[in-house]
Amino acid sequence: MSAISSKLKLSEGPTESVTKSEEYNQLALEHKALNLGQAFPDYPPPKFVTDALAKVAKSDNCLVHQYTRGFGHPRLVSSIAKLYSQLIGREINSQTEVLVTLGAFGALFSSVNGNVDVGDEVIIIEPFFACYESLVRTAGGVVRFIPLRLRKRNDGQLVTTADWVLDKEELEDMFNSKTKIIILNTPHNPLGKVFKKEELESIADLCKKWNVLCISDEVYEWIVYKPNKHFRIATLPGMWERTITIGSAGKTFGVTGWKVGWAYGPANLMVNLQMVHQSCVYMMNTPIQEAVAISFEKQIAKLDQDECYFNCIPNDLKAKRDYMAKILHDVGMKPTVSEGGYVIWVDWSFLEPQVDLNSEKNEYKDVRFVKWMTKQVGLQGIPSSVFCSKSNKILGERFVRYCFCKKNETLLKAGQLLNQWRNREN
Ligand code: PMP
Repeated sequence: MSAISSKLKLSEGPTESVTKSEEYNQLALEHKALNLGQAFPDYPPPKFVTDALAKVAKSDNCLVHQYTRGFGHPRLVSSIAKLYSQLIGREINSQTEVLVTLGAFGALFSSVNGNVDVGDEVIIIEPFFACYESLVRTAGGVVRFIPLRLRKRNDGQLVTTADWVLDKEELEDMFNSKTKIIILNTPHNPLGKVFKKEELESIADLCKKWNVLCISDEVYEWIVYKPNKHFRIATLPGMWERTITIGSAGKTFGVTGWKVGWAYGPANLMVNLQMVHQSCVYMMNTPIQEAVAISFEKQIAKLDQDECYFNCIPNDLKAKRDYMAKILHDVGMKPTVSEGGYVIWVDWSFLEPQVDLNSEKNEYKDVRFVKWMTKQVGLQGIPSSVFCSKSNKILGERFVRYCFCKKNETLLKAGQLLNQWRNREN
């Protein structure tokens, strides 16, 4: 290694989980596999959303193409404040209690970096969205992982994501005087679990007892399948003052490439995020913020009605979820029925006797399975160990994650690929 390379080796902190997802996308491309690894729709966004962007692009107001307010474009922070004031039953100040960020990722970055000092402990629930661990470590924090554990079912029914639970005592043991933050994600990626009110109450009680901040990543807040219901932890007694809640226009409006996210919370907590944001990206692009604001305004006006876009999102997706669960079940895997989100968590281990895992080299079986599947069946998922810490990767080895927010024809194709493999001549 040259002198400069050894001096500039990657600093301690960043982990490779995030890059791993990119690697699987590359693998799908190379093998022309159907990619159900990427968590975004392959169908167009709603028309009112693309119309909003077209309107902004052609607007007579040339200022929509220039720099705007650093902490969030005025029209967008107003609509975010208006929406969440209604949803959480408290008046949110658009100027001091909302920050617009580079995707929800940017909100997570500012929340972690604005609050974590070297040695602070941060609790992360496993499996977890890949960037959490890396963000905390890069900020110098110490990660404490707590796994969601699969409860045994004896009624023969399909496992649902509600069967993945936190052990109360284990959770209590995680908290101590060094704990600064817990990162919560509901609806959860990669599991699709929607935390119940009682589960959130247990977390809230410990946050209050140990004076801990809760960063609540709620990017899938609108994708919840009935009868499940999304609860915002910030609405529980005593939690507003210790919660930063995070959302994403990408997930809300099916436009992940727009990369607009936000955080809201009490002004004294938001200051820390603002300071990081202004020394990082400083400001988000104006036209997309304007288009997101217009899209919000249209829906806020009919929030209580069934036809409101937010209330319709789960309808189409539920049929896709059920179809996906069926084709995976038919081929011999055990899908976990998602309560929310647009990914499905599947136990593939029942196929192990029929799969040549030795044809791939990797210490984790789920990685070998996914690579084998991409090459031999033409279907791409993401191995679950990507979402687990190094010491717990083994916990996820039985699972793989597929995304089902895809056109019906894409899902049908997935069904055909699995069927062809099942009916192959041995
Ligand atoms: N949180 C979770 C749980 C996610 O799944 C994602 C995106 N996959 C993000 C945050 C980041 O969202 P955005 O694209 O708005 O940055």
